[in-house]
Amino acid sequence: MSSRERSFWGWGYADRFPNEEARRALGTQLKALLGFEPPMLASPPGIESIRLRKSRIHVPETLADFVRADDEARIRHAYGKAYCDLYRGFNGQYPTPPDWVAFPRSESEIVAILDWASDQRVAVRPFGGGTSVVGGVENRDDGDFRGAISLDLSKMNRVLEIDEHSHSARIQAGALGPELEAQLGVKGLTLRHYPQSFEFSTLGGWIATRAGGHFATLYTHIDDLV
Ligand SMILES: Cc1cc2nc3c(=O)[nH]c(=O)nc-3n(C[C@H](O)[C@H](O)[C@H](O)COP(=O)(O)OP(=O)(O)OC[C@H]3O[C@@H](n4cnc5c(N)ncnc54)[C@H](O)[C@@H]3O)c2cc1C
Repeated sequence: MSSRERSFWGWGYADRFPNEEARRALGTQLKALLGFEPPMLASPPGIESIRLRKSRIHVPETLADFVRADDEARIRHAYGKAYCDLYRGFNGQYPTPPDWVAFPRSESEIVAILDWASDQRVAVRPFGGGTSVVGGVENRDDGDFRGAISLDLSKMNRVLEIDEHSHSARIQAGALGPELEAQLGVKGLTLRHYPQSFEFSTLGGWIATRAGGHFATLYTHIDDLV
């Protein structure tokens, strides 16, 4: 997959955000359409300038190999992609980020995280592509927990097994749409599930949210395919 940098607050790639000149031109168009002056041109903060509260939980040595507790990882896993998420991200508002982010590479590492977290009364939230529009990946400090972990599944993105006769496959939950299609495509197969967020959402996220693939016809829901 591409190593192109994703926007930490908005949809898609960081380099797609229009520059100041383009945003000014957009403001002028809006003025013509809506009839009022656009408010002052604002810019999002640099990710390095955002200050987070301290992590409330230590990273145990047994998990340290696949955990990140740096601010950038915590910021990138704080919100989904609803308008209110974009608004808060654009304004550098991150009051309740996850305390750290785990990137398990295997089922046994997931088990290790869940065992530790349940023992320590720490909440764990799976994070697929982070395209939720209903706050599904956001920690809000609710519940009686000592801390919150974001469980990022991006390292578990492989198609493990394909049965060409029955047209079925075993696929890890963290595979993004393009990743799983590329692997199925080697055998001339497709999952044929195309939500509008296809590029940045994952199989696990689709199943958890019972996604609808509106770019296809007939069997469009993930429920039809699992
Ligand atoms: C621009 C845009 C277009 C969109 N288009 C569509 C569309 O066409 N159709 C549609 O249905 N939705 C759409 N969505 C919503 C969103 O993309 C879907 O809900 C998608 O299924 C989320 O997948 P994700 O991998 O990003 O999951 P995330 O946002 O990371 O997670 C969503 C929820 O699922 C849970 N979760 C994630 N992975 C797992 C896992 N492996 N195991 C257990 N729980 C897990 C998370 O904890 C969270 O609660 C769109 C969103 C945006 C921003």
